[in-house]
Order: sequence, then C-alpha cells, then structure tokens
Amino acid sequence: MTSGYMTISRKKLLHNLDINGGSTERINTWVDSMRASSPTHYKSNPSLAQDHLKSWMLQHPSALDMFEQITKASKGKPIVMFLDYDGTLSPIVNDPDRAFMSDDMRETVRKLARYFPTAIVSGRCRDKVYNFVRLPELYYAGSHGMDIKGPSKGSQYKKNAHESVLCQPACEFLPMIDEVYTALLEKTRSTPGAKVENNKFCLSVHFRCVEEKKWSELAQKVRSVLKDYPELKLAQGRKVLEIRPTIKWDKGKALEFLVESLGYTNFDEVFPVYIGDDRTDEDAFKVLRERGQGIGILVSKIPKETNASYSLQEPSEVMKFLQRLVDWKQLPIRRQFRIKRRLEGVKIIPTPTDQICLG
Ligand SMILES: [Mg+2]
Repeated sequence: MTSGYMTISRKKLLHNLDINGGSTERINTWVDSMRASSPTHYKSNPSLAQDHLKSWMLQHPSALDMFEQITKASKGKPIVMFLDYDGTLSPIVNDPDRAFMSDDMRETVRKLARYFPTAIVSGRCRDKVYNFVRLPELYYAGSHGMDIKGPSKGSQYKKNAHESVLCQPACEFLPMIDEVYTALLEKTRSTPGAKVENNKFCLSVHFRCVEEKKWSELAQKVRSVLKDYPELKLAQGRKVLEIRPTIKWDKGKALEFLVESLGYTNFDEVFPVYIGDDRTDEDAFKVLRERGQGIGILVSKIPKETNASYSLQEPSEVMKFLQRLVDWKQLPIRRQFRIKRRLEGVKIIPTPTDQICLG
C-alpha cells in the first residue's frame, strides 16, 4: 500500500478532533489528511490513482453495476431512501450558497418519493436544504440529523400520519451555537476565502476557497475559539470543519429515528438505502453495516475508508441509480396496466403467467 492511500486511511483515527487536548501536530495531521483526500492530490500521479481505484472498487463496487443484486437483497421489504445533499444530489461548488441541484435531479427525486419514503439528511440547516430541494413530500433532517421534520404535504407512507414528526435533540445548545458563530466570524475574517455557515444546531467552517497553505492557520483559529467550549466537538468533512454539540446524536441516529417515525418499530421490516459522500455520512453507513440491514452507498471518485458497501462516482451517477429504482418499481405496474387493457379490449382469458402479474 502506498503512502497516498495510507494517509487517507489515517482519517479514520481523526474522525473527531480533540479540541482541548488537540495539539498543533494533531491539527497539522488533519490538514495533511484533508489535502490527501482531495482529488487534486492524485493529479500528479494518474496511474497510481487508477491502481488505487481498481482495488478499492473491488471492495466497494458500483451500485449501478450491482443494481440487480441490491434490489434482490431487499427481498420484497419496503425500500426507504436516505439522501445526503451536498456532493450527493448537488455538485460541490466553491460557494456553498450556490450548491443548487439540477431540475433533472429534482424531478428524479420527486418520482423516487412517489414510490419510496425519502429523506434528505444534511449537515446544513433544515430550512436551507429545503430551499435547495423544494419538495414538500420528503422528510428533512438538517443539522446532521439534529433537526428533523416530516413531509409538509402529508405522507402516503407514514402509518401515524396525524402525528407531525419533529425531533430537535440539541435545542438547549442554540444560544451557545449563536455565540460561537459570532466569535468564529470575527476570528476567521482575516483568512481570505474562509466561510462560516450557521446551520442552526451546528456550524461549518468551509475551506473550499481558502489557499491550501492557509489551512493549518485557519484550523488553529477555529480551535482557539472552541477551546472554551468543551460542550462542542469538532469533526472534519470534505474541506470543512464541523462544530457540533457533544450529544450522542448523528446521521446514524437520525436514520434510526426516521425509520421508527415511519411506523417501523423493527428495522427488519424495511430495507434502508443511504447515499452520501461525506465523513459524517459514515455514522449512518455504520448503523446499516452493524445491523446488517439495508445498504450504504458512498459517493466518491477516489478510494476512501468507508463503512459503505457500494459506491457511485458523482451526483450524475446518483441520479442514474435513483432513476433505475423508479423504473424497477414502475415495471410491474406498467405490466399490470398493459395486461388490464388487453383483457378489457380483447376479452381474452388470462394465461397463468398473466394471473401471476395481476396478483
Ligand atoms: Mg455531502
């Protein structure tokens, strides 16, 4: 194994940065791992990148190539869809406020939600991610799952439809988050390109537009603000530092909460499919892997340490996968419709095969 891949693997050890005990060395190691996980890292050695990708893809094959196996694995259980937003439904862009999803993607997600209960699970604040997606029939879990709301349009899936889903386990942290947001704005102002985003129950410091040589300095600034707040923890994402309350709640807990909210007390009753591109999505992948239920799909063009079983390279592949799920679900319905019309029009006696389809 070469040093490039080793560096990425080390990220696992750095999942949650120890803010108070965190040394300068630790911050620098994190910055190194963020640099290594950036696709630009491989540009200098394309053949090395290809070799890594090939061996990684054997362990995490494309969800498009494995589509039949995935649908077969659901064994007739209802599929429930969980989708991250940034880097999964929308491309990663320099300005996080302009991470729009395409109309085609929105249409595909709209069709998907017609056949499968669908939730968007994002690190962004719920209102912001809703404004990007604009589909009232979906579930939304913002702030890494710390702010969950059910469909405003009413759901055909939820067994207890009269109860409005709402879960905000970190309410008491709101004043502290606001205070830290103001302090971070002030502290990072002198770093060109740094952007602090208030996601209501958590904060993000974006590195996307900051020169790489300034990353360590910026990470130190964030750490210096947070050292007075032991109730908050720092975690790394894709060119982002996430600041969250230390409560035991993450995207994995949000996934479990949402499955229950749909009325399935037993995880065995459903087949959750979670698609995400970020380190914070690993909490959800881990839940699925540990429970042995459903599947996790990592969106990535480069090999990464992950608990997901399958991979997709980019949002355009995510869209193809979602469309295939829609087509797969529509197929028996279309077949039934064709047979019904044939029976009405010609009044033929159905064959045993047709009877199976109609059933
Ligand atoms: Mg993401």
